[in-house]
Amino acid sequence: MDSQNITRRLVDRFDREVNYLRISLTERCNFRCVYCMPAQGDPFSSNPELLDWDEITRAVAVFAARGVKKIRLTGGEPLVRADVPELVAKLKALDGIEHVALTSNGFLLPRYAEPLAEAGLDSLNLSIDSLDPKRFREITRHGTLERVLEGMAATKKAGVTNIKLNAVVVRGLNDDEVEDLVRFAASQDVILRFIEVMPIGQDTVWGKNGRDACVSARELRERLGKSWDMSADRTRYGAGPARYWRLLGEGLPSDGATVGIISAVTECFCENCNRLRMTATGGLRACLADDHEIDLREILRSPLSHADQAHLLSSAIDKSLGDKKERHSFDLEAGGVTFKSMNAIGG
Ligand code: SAM
Ligand code: SF4
Repeated sequence: MDSQNITRRLVDRFDREVNYLRISLTERCNFRCVYCMPAQGDPFSSNPELLDWDEITRAVAVFAARGVKKIRLTGGEPLVRADVPELVAKLKALDGIEHVALTSNGFLLPRYAEPLAEAGLDSLNLSIDSLDPKRFREITRHGTLERVLEGMAATKKAGVTNIKLNAVVVRGLNDDEVEDLVRFAASQDVILRFIEVMPIGQDTVWGKNGRDACVSARELRERLGKSWDMSADRTRYGAGPARYWRLLGEGLPSDGATVGIISAVTECFCENCNRLRMTATGGLRACLADDHEIDLREILRSPLSHADQAHLLSSAIDKSLGDKKERHSFDLEAGGVTFKSMNAIGG
């Protein structure tokens, strides 16, 4: 194996540079959101099947050597695993890792906000799809809005102020709350991103309602434009899949509010894709919508030395990058394009 392999930057066949890794820590979740998981859950992997913190850290060290700078911990609900702050601290200590972020439903944040902040967590994406407690429960099937809001407050208080709210907009479920969510996020001084519901998994709201479930980015822009003066916020372009808009007008602070729209379904942004994904069991995926995975756990648990493992991991990363498709292929008429649900992939 050539020694350069382990330091070469990650650029795919379409000249996209990968510098971001999303890691699912678990498929399990204390919620069962209607767009993400079946009501009864899925057959989850057993604990010994999940990568432990040492294995994740060794894998991430190789990604970092190849140019990955940003890590997002997601799931499932990452905080249902014990000691996530310990993992955050380990990842923050790695050379090359500049940003460690968490995506969470917030339910366990009242307990973990402080240790996460102490461990050096850089930012939080928090999912809130409704401001009506009853509806919040209907969407999440198990969630409690009040507790999630407490989690957001605790995170801010602990010093993690880089917070974004994610809201998946589902027609007939919460699409009447678009404006309220904008006002709420502005009042909390956090950035809101609306996400088009995606046809991922087999037994979710998409499977039941088909593409009608999806409120398109275009519809969302039209809605926002009716309520507020709206202009593209290009200062934020390029940092991820969201396209950002600056809104000015009634009910918002005098300097306005920034809102992002993630239009994975109707306005594909694959040409700017900068990421790979690792599942909780060590499956390396080149795309959310492509079930093909390369098994990194097999390498991490092999009897080889850590140095030899690092070379094999690096080659596996190259292979995944080589397989990365030009764009996703959401078949909008199908029930769901992937076998795995979003919680199992790491949304
Ligand atoms: N449990 C955490 C949470 O809910 O934030 C992290 C995992 S969750 C899978 C990550 C993100 O994926 C959440 O913002 C969630 O709303 C989003 N998501 C899940 N299923 C989705 C779907 N079918 N379409 C679009 N977004 C989805
Ligand atoms: Fe759990 Fe997040 Fe999926 Fe909701 S979106 S079921 S909180 S993993």
